[in-house]
Amino acid sequence: MSQRYRIAVIPGDGIGREVVPEGLRCLQAAAEAHGFELECTEFDFACADYWARHGEMLPPDWRDVLGGFHAIFFGAVGWPEVVPDHVSLWGSLLRLRRGFDQYVNLRPVRLLRGVRSPLRDREPGDIDFLVVRENTEGEYSSIGGRIFEDTDRETVLQETVMTRTGVDRVLRYAFELAAARPRRRLTWATKSNGIAISMPYWDERATAMAQRYPEVAADSDHIDILTARFVLQPDRYDVVVASNLFGDILSDLGPACAGTIGIAPSANINPDRTWPSLFEPVHGSAPDIAGRGIANPVGQIWSGAMMLDHLGEPAAAERVVAAIERVLDERADVLTPDLGGTGTTEGLGTAIAAEIAAGA
Ligand code: ATP
Ligand code: MG
Repeated sequence: MSQRYRIAVIPGDGIGREVVPEGLRCLQAAAEAHGFELECTEFDFACADYWARHGEMLPPDWRDVLGGFHAIFFGAVGWPEVVPDHVSLWGSLLRLRRGFDQYVNLRPVRLLRGVRSPLRDREPGDIDFLVVRENTEGEYSSIGGRIFEDTDRETVLQETVMTRTGVDRVLRYAFELAAARPRRRLTWATKSNGIAISMPYWDERATAMAQRYPEVAADSDHIDILTARFVLQPDRYDVVVASNLFGDILSDLGPACAGTIGIAPSANINPDRTWPSLFEPVHGSAPDIAGRGIANPVGQIWSGAMMLDHLGEPAAAERVVAAIERVLDERADVLTPDLGGTGTTEGLGTAIAAEIAAGA
């Protein structure tokens, strides 16, 4: 009996609906090559159409509907003509992330062969690191308020929340990752010189965690110099772990350094596996190019590779990434416009799927 994984598929809005089928095409090719099964169930919620019909982004029983799947394969959400972006985002993706306790947001930053970095003279190998973002607490709290409204004394306060459990679990995840990588380096982002209560706590917990991983060379950078070094010396970094806000910034800056936003993958992971993890490209629904068949499907396909790795199929995951890299490097004829080509979403997806089937 071959292993069978049950996947919830949520294409969402805009180009999400165009790139998800290409992601599935490639995942099925990998499943066939490696002898496991992916049983995919598609859902039509978490999109503007659903919101227009129901006034909600998710069904009330979403936790029961999705909770039993091995993983969630997500496209993109957002169609501002119909539903304001903050409503669609908070009503769908952020509820899933928090409700399923996906406390790690993982974004690989790797310059692939065949992709030009906006950084001058950078070669593949110069940029190859992982950003680990805390995904459930930190600076993104709704605790606070506004007093003395509409007076000269108008005052606004918003709290940062760091719990020992919340901080330690994301740090532990990052140190485990670093310990398993060849370079065994970890940098944590901080700003304890300016943010004088929460960030020293973050440093304290990171220092304590570092003592438990003597094999990992760990240090910290203040967030300001860290962003500068992403651009100037990206080869310094191996695993970078950050609080919710700093991680949010780093996890867009990093992929931008590695080429187009269209290729960047991400994973929202529940490492304890109490609930499913969610895999989605970094990019959004891109209303400006939706419906034209020219969106780059690589971010979706690479996110699918991360899903295979999480499911326990690392060889299949590696095969998908290798196929992506070969096609980007060798098949100028199928590249989408964001990569400088004239190809289509389906053309690039089909070429990668064929390369996956063919193997190395
Ligand atoms: P989010 O919904 O995550 O907030 P956004 O709506 O601000 O993101 P995107 O939807 O990611 O932004 O689009 C930003 C720009 O990048 C747009 O011009 C879009 O066309 C382009 N873009 C995004 N994804 C892709 C892709 N897969 N292929 C080609 N271009 C893309
Ligand atoms: Mg958007």
